[in-house]
Amino acid sequence: NTLRLIPKLPFLFGPSPIQALPRLTRAISPPTSCDPRITIHAKREDCNSPLAYGGNKVRKLVYLVADAQAHACTALVSVGGIQSNHTRAVTAVAAAAGLQAVTVQERWVPIDPPLYAQTGNILLSRLMGGDVRVGIGEEGGGEEGFGIGHKEATRRVCREVEEKGGKPYYIPAGASDHELGGLGFVDCMVEIAGQERELGIFFDTVIVCSVTGSSHAGLIVGAVAEGRGRKVIGIDASGKPEETKEQVTRIARNTAKLLDPDLEIPDSAIILDDRFHEGVYGVPGPSTIKAMQLAARTDAVITDPVYEGKSMAGMIQLIREGTIGPGSNVLYVHLGGQPALNAYSSYFETESA
Ligand code: PLP
Repeated sequence: NTLRLIPKLPFLFGPSPIQALPRLTRAISPPTSCDPRITIHAKREDCNSPLAYGGNKVRKLVYLVADAQAHACTALVSVGGIQSNHTRAVTAVAAAAGLQAVTVQERWVPIDPPLYAQTGNILLSRLMGGDVRVGIGEEGGGEEGFGIGHKEATRRVCREVEEKGGKPYYIPAGASDHELGGLGFVDCMVEIAGQERELGIFFDTVIVCSVTGSSHAGLIVGAVAEGRGRKVIGIDASGKPEETKEQVTRIARNTAKLLDPDLEIPDSAIILDDRFHEGVYGVPGPSTIKAMQLAARTDAVITDPVYEGKSMAGMIQLIREGTIGPGSNVLYVHLGGQPALNAYSSYFETESA
C-alpha cells in the first residue's frame, strides 16, 4: 500500500507480458525426464517500455525521475560501462522527461571487440542526444574499472553541472544503491502476482540476473512481503558475487524498511548462485553462448552475452541438475540488454549448429 503512494512516472507500457516457453522447456526437461513436469515462463521486462527498448532500468527509473522532478533537477548524471544498458535507459528517460543526461562510460570490460564504443547502447544514447563521456574515469587518478559502488567521475560531473547553473540528480550504477532503487522490482513482483491470478498459475521459483542488485532485491522484498514461500534465485553476472550479495542484502532490507518497518528480510531469502558469471563481468563464456543459442533456437528468446545469457545458463543448469525439481513452475525474469548484442558480434562469427 505504501508503494502505491510513492510518486512514479508513466514510462512503462503497463504490465509486461508473461510468455510460456514450451520448446525451451522440452529441450531442458524432456517429457520423460521428470514427473510432474516443470514449466518455464518468461516475464518480459525487455518489452516493458516504449522508451529506447526498455528493460529493467526503466522500471527502476520511474521512481527516481519522479524524485528528480520533485527536486527540480535539470540533469540526470550516471555511470556505467561502455555498453551499459543503464546509461542508455537514463538517457532515454531524460529525453522523455525533458531533462539533460550526462553519462560517464567507463572501460569496465577487459575486451575491445570491433565497434564496441560505436554501436549498440552507446549509439542509442548518442542518438537520443545524451552527453556521453567516454574515458573521463581515466582523468585525475586512473580508470576506476568495473564496480557497483559510487564513482569519483560522477561527482566531478555533478560539480560541473552545478557550475553551469544546472541542478544534477545523481543516479548510481544500475540505479541500485539509491533509496528508491529497489522499488521498481517490488512493483514487478506485485504485477507478477496479479498476472498469476489471471493465468491460474503460481511461480514457485523466480530466476533473475544480479549485478548491481536492485532488480533481485526488489523481487526478494516482493516475495517476502507476499509470504507465499516463493524462491527468488539470483544468478550473479558481476564476477564479484560477495559484493553483489552484500549490496542485494542491503538494498532489500532498506527497501523493506521504506515500505513497512515491520517487514524483515531473512538471510535465507537472499540466494545468489555464483557459478555462471564466467569469471568476469561483461565477457561471455562457453556456457553463456550455448544458453543464448538454446533460448534463441527454441522459443526465439534473444538474450545478451553480459547479463541474460548468464542467467539463462544458470536457469538451464539448475533445472538439469535437479536443484529445480519436478512440478516446479519457473519464471525467468528477462531484464533486457539486447541492444548490446551487436557490439559482441565477433563472438558469433564462427557459429555452428
Ligand atoms: N540484465 C540486464 C539486461 C541489465 O542491464 C542489468 C544491469 O545491471 C542486469 C541484468 C542486472 O540487474 P541489476 O543491476 O539490477 O542487478
